[in-house]
Amino acid sequence: MDILPEETPLWQYIERTAREVAAKYGYDEIRTPTFEPTELFARGVGDTTDVVQKEMYTFEDREHRSFTLRPEGTASVVRALIENGRCSDAMPLKLYYLISCFRYEKPQAGRSREFFQFGTEMFGAAAPSSDATVIALAADIIKALGIKDVVLHINSIGCPDCRPKYREALVEYFSQHTDELCDSCRERLKTNPLRVLDCKSPICSGIAKDAPKTIEHLCDGCHDHFESLKEYLTAMGIDYEIDTHIVRGLDYYTRTVFEFIAGGIGAQSTVCGGGRYDGLMSQLGGPALPGIGFAMGITRLILAMKASGVEIPEKSAPAVYIAPMGPAAAKYALSEVSKLRDKGVYAECDIVGRSLKAQMKYADKIGAKYTLVVGDNELEVGRATLKDMTGGENKEVALDSLSDLFE
Ligand code: ATP
Ligand code: MG
Repeated sequence: MDILPEETPLWQYIERTAREVAAKYGYDEIRTPTFEPTELFARGVGDTTDVVQKEMYTFEDREHRSFTLRPEGTASVVRALIENGRCSDAMPLKLYYLISCFRYEKPQAGRSREFFQFGTEMFGAAAPSSDATVIALAADIIKALGIKDVVLHINSIGCPDCRPKYREALVEYFSQHTDELCDSCRERLKTNPLRVLDCKSPICSGIAKDAPKTIEHLCDGCHDHFESLKEYLTAMGIDYEIDTHIVRGLDYYTRTVFEFIAGGIGAQSTVCGGGRYDGLMSQLGGPALPGIGFAMGITRLILAMKASGVEIPEKSAPAVYIAPMGPAAAKYALSEVSKLRDKGVYAECDIVGRSLKAQMKYADKIGAKYTLVVGDNELEVGRATLKDMTGGENKEVALDSLSDLFE
């Protein structure tokens, strides 16, 4: 995906905001490789998911080993913690990442084959207050970005104790509608029936409307956890809706699942998806550490920011542009912009060898606030005219103290 220079200030703004908010919750950054052995994602994302079955970019290296461009971040983070012996660090461990992900899907608005995520993971906290904290972090980032039209959906999908019974009830219900389900859902019914609940086809989602709900089949532990989470969210002033159709149909996903849905950005409206995955660490060969996290799609955040009318930060403009005439003046210009840059001031001078007229046109185009034309005469008297390009007053300045004028 190309992100052109007009757009990068917005990306940087989002990245900076996400980092700053995450830091207030005590999260540290982790970076992992762009591709990993295919096996990691098959186990860590799940063999029966669309991501693994249909969406992975998988290739063989020169030694015929199978690798996959990461379709998401969680599996890699869990692997990295196990491999680097970090599972006995002080808990909870709180990590975030900014990564590109790759999925072979049908490109459309809000869905591309290479996309970017800001994701977080928290390990070693199982209490419902940790779920509330993770959701609050996501809500804070979304709020800090100025996205207004957004709704938090939450659900609980139970645990390995209560899910088998629920699964039975679900299979029984959908089996009455086998003929109407789409081909994928007929398959899902056998391999992973919970996934039928989030099928996007209108017929399947129509049938799913009346399906048994996970929250009606929770064991006492899961029920209490969900009730506490709701109380904590209310105590933190975070509004939510219960959405019984959010699922993560894998055994190691447990209890809380959530999504933030933005308005006005079309069909791909989930800007953030997350959940608890208490079984994942042990599934990947580590200790039985509980985990909970989320991931936000940066392009969808951008769409939502635009829909909310957020002012997009502009590319910065130079404080001053020095226009030299001749080689002696060029030497002055180069040394002076160096001094200014050392002070932290954005300054430019001609490095193309343009005519004076072309230089002034260029200075105007890049939005320089001031220009300073320096020729042999100016060098001789040591003074030149600092021109205010925004229409303010021009002033005579001493060449050797130009940098003093800018902060
Ligand atoms: P979707 O409903 O869009 O298929 P998902 O359940 O596959 O989402 P997750 O794996 O939960 O998505 O990824 C977290 C977030 O990453 C999503 O909520 C979304 O904002 C973003 N995302 C996922 N896939 C894409 C994509 N192909 N292009 C852009 N953003 C994406
Ligand atoms: Mg998807």
